[in-house]
Amino acid sequence: MPDTAANSWEARAEAATFYGFTDLPSIHARGTVVLTHGEGPYIVDTHGRRYLDANSGLWNMVAGFDHAGLAAAAKAQYDRFPGYHAFFGRMSDQTVMLSEKLVEVSPFDRGRVFYTNSGSEANDTLAKMLWFLAGAEGAPERRKILTRVNSYHGVTAVSASMTGKPYNALFGLPLPGFVHLTCPHYWREGRPGETEGEFTARLAAELEEVIAREGAETIAGFFAEPVMGAGGVIPPSAGYFQAIQPILKRHGIPLVADEVICGFGRTGEVWGCETYGFVPDAIISSKALTAGYFPMGAVILGSDLADRLHAAAEAVEEFPHGFTASGHPVGCAIALKAIDVILNEGLLDNVRAMTPRFEAGMQRLAEHPHIGEWRGKGLMGALEAVADKATKTPFPSDLSVSERIANTCTDHGLICRPLGQSIVLCPPFILTEAQMDEMFDKLEAALTRVFAEIGAG
Ligand SMILES: *Cc1c(COP(=O)(O)O)cnc(C)c1O
Repeated sequence: MPDTAANSWEARAEAATFYGFTDLPSIHARGTVVLTHGEGPYIVDTHGRRYLDANSGLWNMVAGFDHAGLAAAAKAQYDRFPGYHAFFGRMSDQTVMLSEKLVEVSPFDRGRVFYTNSGSEANDTLAKMLWFLAGAEGAPERRKILTRVNSYHGVTAVSASMTGKPYNALFGLPLPGFVHLTCPHYWREGRPGETEGEFTARLAAELEEVIAREGAETIAGFFAEPVMGAGGVIPPSAGYFQAIQPILKRHGIPLVADEVICGFGRTGEVWGCETYGFVPDAIISSKALTAGYFPMGAVILGSDLADRLHAAAEAVEEFPHGFTASGHPVGCAIALKAIDVILNEGLLDNVRAMTPRFEAGMQRLAEHPHIGEWRGKGLMGALEAVADKATKTPFPSDLSVSERIANTCTDHGLICRPLGQSIVLCPPFILTEAQMDEMFDKLEAALTRVFAEIGAG
């Protein structure tokens, strides 16, 4: 029961904050969890209750909530040079060092980096870069953007138009010129009798058809998450990127990897594109880039796009785009530290070491008669609830099964996220074996309890 006294944190939160991505009826019933601090992978609320955050905040707090080295890097940079921009030929030394580092750890032999404050802005920025390039290269009609149904690329007007979610309609989005292809989710989208290979081939054929229908000369780029995150943790079907990339290449359409979730270790390699064996034309990064300790996004351009955009900007003397806090020195100092912590202080190693235990735990829960499939890669996974396992029939949506499971978990000190009829797990990279066992034990208890409550035990 929420604390409803007028001066409670719950009441004060509701009175003065406009909530986003929050189910308002359940907030009225349950109250807001107001947080004061964190300890490793745990968060603590104003009542002193501790929760294991199996979602790393929003995928981003991969080093946990009290990393001393990250806080020290922030403090040192605040003391040294607390803020600056990257306009007019001035930028901080931290910004220079981070650009070098991002190119070094990228799959590109050469490249250039542009900074934003979020993943959404990074996607918007790259769309504007591609439009700018189209104009500069004498092909101003090359403006359409291809993405997939269920993809998540952000919430600003352009990145929301890339996002393939039904709630876009509430805003009259997408904007014209955004085309959504089939989600590469074999378990849900595969036809009866179709093998995974045939499914992938069908999606490649669809891409060919869409390019033919729209006109290759009207398409600016194809944006894709290596593993779809907020669409429900959907790894691509086998051979997906190997099937689509040659088609895009043949038509001169850049392939952009939106690595906002996958980047910096989530799938067990630095980049999701490494895990899936392809090299994109550009990378979008955010979230784990600063381990969540600063809002920052980055567009990392591979050599071809970097060279062409540089030439396009030189032709008109500047690329007229940027954010006041682009390349913020504190953000860059934190990102440099975060990359070092992930790559050199054992976080990526721990993702790899813990993945078999994660998969075994997911596998165990997927044996439940009302879990249709588990899917995932590295330390990101989802369990999808079904009313009927054989036919993959979902529960009626008014039962709110995944919300009930997540709320029951919260009541028992575990934060996990309902997405459609799935439960998403993406714990911090610092998770220990005991903490992972706690996560699965609490989730299993919640599943058992909720399925019993709705008479589906
Ligand atoms: C979160 C996310 C974004 C948007 O990032 P924000 O920082 O929330 O704007 C874009 N792409 C992907 C794949 C994401 O997961």
